[in-house]
Amino acid sequence: MLKDSKIFVAGSNGMVGSAIVRNLVKNGFKNIITRSSKELDLRNQQAVLSFFEIEKPEYVFLAAAKVGGIHANNTYPAAFIYDNMMIQNNVIHAAHLTHVTKLLFLGSSCIYPKFAPQPIKEEYLLTGALEPTNEAYAIAKISGLKMCEFYKKQYGCNFISAMPTNLYGINDNFNLQNSHVLPALLRKFIEAKQNNQHEVVVWGSGTPMREFLFVDDLAEACVFLMQSYNETETVNVGTGEDVTIKELAETIKDIVGFEGELVFDSSKPDGTPRKLLDVSKINHLGWKHKTSLKEGIEKTLQWVEEQHFEMF
Ligand code: GDP
Repeated sequence: MLKDSKIFVAGSNGMVGSAIVRNLVKNGFKNIITRSSKELDLRNQQAVLSFFEIEKPEYVFLAAAKVGGIHANNTYPAAFIYDNMMIQNNVIHAAHLTHVTKLLFLGSSCIYPKFAPQPIKEEYLLTGALEPTNEAYAIAKISGLKMCEFYKKQYGCNFISAMPTNLYGINDNFNLQNSHVLPALLRKFIEAKQNNQHEVVVWGSGTPMREFLFVDDLAEACVFLMQSYNETETVNVGTGEDVTIKELAETIKDIVGFEGELVFDSSKPDGTPRKLLDVSKINHLGWKHKTSLKEGIEKTLQWVEEQHFEMF
């Protein structure tokens, strides 16, 4: 990828896409194209193909997706499978038809079997049943990464994929119903402190374990892989470290400075017990995360404060 290569970041208004754009700009890439979902609905096949034919991007970061936390995935499975499959089918196929030099597809750690051995290696894909709460999203993402594999096999396209762990950071979704656990808890603790509440409700038992990666670290990994990785097999991107949801809640509580209690709501689902990625492959390739969980939460909190809590 040259500094003046034409790079399309799909999903540039989202948390991941916007972090990739920030990283590319920081590294001196000058020819980045973006479209909001209003300007270009990636679920519309004709619109996507016309866009690729007119703009002819050379590199594509496919960071556009319908994403959400355990409640959203569990409640809107049809929307999750439809939107994600449409977006990725249209973008990957248009990239093939218009001879894109290289494409990076982004998946998620929930594509692996619910009871995969931990930490999860790339080769465990499709060795067992999925976690039911996010099966629709996972099936879509598995199709996307397989599509990249098959387009490489049949057409010789240089389409690669990366599987990030749970992400958080700048431009995250802070909706209390539909977001992921980290932004939801950050918001709950901030508001509980502001309102002098005595307790904060944490969903589930607090015992599931999750790994969290700061989104700017993921963006760096994506640019790194785009520049150096050309193999068919997907690459896990994470920190290789995880915490229980209770530990996460306590860490956020301390950073925010909330002094009340944690209450666990067992009527809410726990989801998969653990999904820690084995990141030895990307570490050997030469990339490692930089931001600790504490630092990442502090940076996210600082950003939330700078935006005057507008995203709440
Ligand atoms: P998952 O990683 O796909 O299961 O998605 P989430 O990030 O939504 O949830 C991770 C874990 O955090 C689950 O065990 C949830 O029950 C738990 N959790 C605790 N409090 C919350 C909350 O306020 N919001 C969300 N989304 N999850 C929570």
